[in-house]
Amino acid sequence: MQDIPNIFGNMVFNDKVMKQRLPKEVYKALKRTIAEQKHLNLDVANIVATAMKEWAIEKGATHFTHWFQPLTGVTAEKHDSFISPVDDGNVIMEFSGKELVRGEPDASSFPSGGIRSTFEARGYTAWDPTSYAFIKDNTLCIPTAFCSYSGEALDKKTPLLRSLQAIDKESKRILKIFGHDNVKRVITTVGPEQEFFLIDKELYQKRPDLIYCGRTLFGARPPKGQELEDHYFASIKPRVSAFMKELDEELWKLGVLAKTKHNEVAPAQHELAPIFTTVNIAADHNQLIMELMKTIANKHDLVCLLHEKPFAGVNGSGKHNNWSISTDTGINLLEPGETPYENAQFLLFLSAVIKAVDEYQDLLRISIANAGNDHRLGANEAPPAIISVFLGDELTAIIESIENDTGYNQKEKTQMEIGATVLPHFPKDTTDRNRTSPFAFTGNKFEFRMLGSSSSISDANVVLNTIVAEALSQFADRLESAGDFKAELTAIIKESIKKHKRIIFNGNNYSEEWVKESEKRGLLNLKSTVEAVPYFISEKNINLFSKHNIFSEAEIHSRYHIMLEEYIKVIHIEALTILDMTKRGIIPSIVDYLKDLTEVVKNKKAISSAINSQLEESLINVVSDLSACLYKNIEKLDNSILEAKNQDSLLNTAKYYREVVFINMQELRSVIDNLETKIGKKYWPFPTYGELLYSV
Ligand code: ADP
Ligand code: MG
Repeated sequence: MQDIPNIFGNMVFNDKVMKQRLPKEVYKALKRTIAEQKHLNLDVANIVATAMKEWAIEKGATHFTHWFQPLTGVTAEKHDSFISPVDDGNVIMEFSGKELVRGEPDASSFPSGGIRSTFEARGYTAWDPTSYAFIKDNTLCIPTAFCSYSGEALDKKTPLLRSLQAIDKESKRILKIFGHDNVKRVITTVGPEQEFFLIDKELYQKRPDLIYCGRTLFGARPPKGQELEDHYFASIKPRVSAFMKELDEELWKLGVLAKTKHNEVAPAQHELAPIFTTVNIAADHNQLIMELMKTIANKHDLVCLLHEKPFAGVNGSGKHNNWSISTDTGINLLEPGETPYENAQFLLFLSAVIKAVDEYQDLLRISIANAGNDHRLGANEAPPAIISVFLGDELTAIIESIENDTGYNQKEKTQMEIGATVLPHFPKDTTDRNRTSPFAFTGNKFEFRMLGSSSSISDANVVLNTIVAEALSQFADRLESAGDFKAELTAIIKESIKKHKRIIFNGNNYSEEWVKESEKRGLLNLKSTVEAVPYFISEKNINLFSKHNIFSEAEIHSRYHIMLEEYIKVIHIEALTILDMTKRGIIPSIVDYLKDLTEVVKNKKAISSAINSQLEESLINVVSDLSACLYKNIEKLDNSILEAKNQDSLLNTAKYYREVVFINMQELRSVIDNLETKIGKKYWPFPTYGELLYSV
């Protein structure tokens, strides 16, 4: 291992490099642009571009790319080399300010949900100077936002940057009222914990479902799953360890603060967590983490599965989004403070989060919805589809005492006056942490635990930033015009608690009682992507996004379309894949097996009718019955795929895929899983769960 502090960030055009390589004035101008989120003037951009190019070439780069995040949820890049011809037939290496700040990928094939056809055919990419450029695979990568010519966002980064501006603006209004005039910028910070599976590459290549869908579409349960709980935090096996070491090193070079790694609950499952950073950079880094996991696994003859549910019967993978709000002066606004005054401020921000989560449960649910995550939510391994907030007993008691005007400490019986009473210190210990809550307060941040492992963290954080900005905006409106600041502050906190306490739940979110209880409380339980997505275009949500300039109405509708389309496509591909594997893989194996069995029976009978063939005959019977079932289920699934085309709207098509195609797939699967346990090993054409899960 090389010297870590020396390799850390050595492939990043970061502040240190900028300071070394840019003229002082240019460096200052660039820093100002970053701090104030202004456009960079072209003269400055030209100097920055040249410095960047020289640095990149010294590091072995030959190409550059605008690195962006279209609505596919993964990253996109189109590489251009630095070469430029000169008169004498030679080339020089060039990279201009114009090329740095703006690119025009021919982007007509990315999802746009109809935006590009109604507006402009092509999109452009624009440099995001708040996220450093870096070198990956001999290419200088410039993080960019991706928009249409008429300015509509076509990516995941643009709304995230807009939501950061919204929460910056509204938080600063509040902080100003509290007298923090020195705060120039408020950001949200995120540390996403990434779960993934590692399996052997050779076996992976024998499973078309893993190749096309990222998950197994069938597979009987192996004799051993995760019941012994012997994988979680177990010592890391040598092949996995070698992979992790290389992954850490490559991430460090890219300035990613990879920190914690361990085995997870399911066999073959692992987790990597970085140290938190600004949400925009955290989102970029999480994309890099996912990408490098895949490429480095490949080098080790492994495959990294990022799907939310690669295997039925064992845990799936998620991404815990640890989220907080911070000032540029280093204050975590979700950290209870030392003084009564700080605590009043903390309680106000806390109230804003509680109000926001209650009022926009639907948006939070949608922000983590995809076909893969539908397998996890509510399946006793991940939080249910019902959103609620965990505060812990101590904080809940404080909140209740505020609501009811009673003393916090029952012995003291003193009233807890906001802004006058010091809050007790909340122990930040992890022992009694509630692991079942979808949205848990963990001492100085919230942990949103519903995210799927494969998706960008952008959507969830756009929603979090925006809904909290909205709550803060309403509070600021009241406080700015209040005569008696302290009375108004108390009123706001009290009212928010009274009105939104239904969202607080400290019990077991996996239990059946909670499902019933939450229904009584009137909380939403949107069980699938298809049930959730229609809420995206409600008037309430359109108003929210428009007010804070996150999405225009056209952008909202385009995203609604893309979410439904993506759902339909995913299920469609899965259905075609399971049919193909069944028809061309499983059926021939059944036929071979039956042929051999019948041959044996025939031969036995030929020798003597007295020889017992009970075993073979009963197997022939069982397998024949199951194949008849298989045949029926294939037909049913085939027909439903055809019928799906006849639905009259996008939403109804998505519903049909959920309610009919998906269910038919599950039914076909259960027959296949049953057959797998009856058919001889040498006949079965695909690696089993046992082989896949214990392959490394
Ligand atoms: P755990 O016990 O779950 O490991 P940690 O406190 O170690 O909890 O943090 C888990 C994740 O939360 C890490 O990625 C960490 O960097 C992140 N985190 C810690 N503090 C903050 C914060 N203020 N804002 C955002 N993320 C944070
Ligand atoms: Mg966690």
